Amino acid sequence: MLFCRVCLLVQDAYGMFGEVHSEGAIFKDRRLEGQSCRLAGMKVLQKAIRGRTAGLFSLIDTLWPPVVPLKAPGHGQACEEANTPLPPRFCYVLTAHPTLGQIDIIEDPVSKLYQPPAPCSLREILQTGDLGTRCSFYARVIYQRPLLSSLLLLEQREIWLTVTDVTLQVQDENHSGFPRTLPVCVTSSCVLAQEVLEELAKAAPHSFFFRDALRDQGRIVCGERTVLSLPKPVLDVASGTRSCELPGPVRLDGLDSVTQVNCICSVQGTVVAVDESTAFSWPVCDRCGSERLEQSPEDSDRGAFSCADCSRVVTSPVLRRHLQVFLACPARPQCTVRVKLMQSSISSLLRFAAGEDGGYEVNSVIGKEVGWLNCFVQSITTHRTSCLGLEEIELLRAERASSGT
Ligand SMILES: [Zn+2]
Repeated sequence: MLFCRVCLLVQDAYGMFGEVHSEGAIFKDRRLEGQSCRLAGMKVLQKAIRGRTAGLFSLIDTLWPPVVPLKAPGHGQACEEANTPLPPRFCYVLTAHPTLGQIDIIEDPVSKLYQPPAPCSLREILQTGDLGTRCSFYARVIYQRPLLSSLLLLEQREIWLTVTDVTLQVQDENHSGFPRTLPVCVTSSCVLAQEVLEELAKAAPHSFFFRDALRDQGRIVCGERTVLSLPKPVLDVASGTRSCELPGPVRLDGLDSVTQVNCICSVQGTVVAVDESTAFSWPVCDRCGSERLEQSPEDSDRGAFSCADCSRVVTSPVLRRHLQVFLACPARPQCTVRVKLMQSSISSLLRFAAGEDGGYEVNSVIGKEVGWLNCFVQSITTHRTSCLGLEEIELLRAERASSGT
């Protein structure tokens, strides 16, 4: 049986909030959001205090002040106070008893207290910039790290997504200090639905609705109480914040003085050195690209291999390389920029430098221009000299996913 864990945030007519946890089946497959319900068989697990449970209260704050006047304790009618009541300072965390726990919808139309999520554009989120507050947005994922096809592994680890939307993409060259893409960290405490995991396991661009993510410094964090879902087809075209469509090919920020770790940027520069200590090469099958090449004694005599994947004799294997170069970048003149290159860039860089034996002349690489390269920023160190560790990457592309390679 599929294990089902559900968490509800509830509010009563007096403005009191509660978080209800259930590991049974009483909430399963029921659309309870926005409904007025009667809850029975609940046990108090904890009285959560603002300040000690920041994650829970940042969510409650998105629903405060209430949209309808609250009832005052001890009175039947709505409280007529002119000033807005103070935000709640505590909240009960409840759990549904496995057999006595019950939840019944008592009123069919949507509750007057209910406030649906209010999505913002990424630009609006950056403009307000209140750290530790929640935000909801639609965005296109253009890069994901790591790319994993195993759903189980995806569920257990931190995933970095690079997202963008139309409001960040349409900025002109001298844009007002907003980046064109934004890193989103999906921590392992963010519970992901099966359909979201399946989407993440595909190496293709995807769009999500991020509900109640937390604003952090220069990035957005999806953790406990954040919900990722697939966006519904757009009905209201006028509302740009609900669309994940981009105006054209994705534009990245160039490397500059504000580039941060875990972001992506585009880089151009001149090769000033090759990191020979980390350079190595290995042969792969020229037909299927497999690295599982085996060499029997007779293969070895004629310099051939057998491919363990396509069971073919490989007489002219393709050489793959690992190569890191140091670039002089006009955008960061005082900085050492190390880039781990992709195969395609290595091939074009070594096109005229490769020797007969598969080696290459380092001197013929020095002074070559490379770029623009799309790079992921792996590390930034500022100790004594500033040094950037970049890795050339490929953005998620629809064609690559459909061709199955
Ligand atoms: Zn092969």
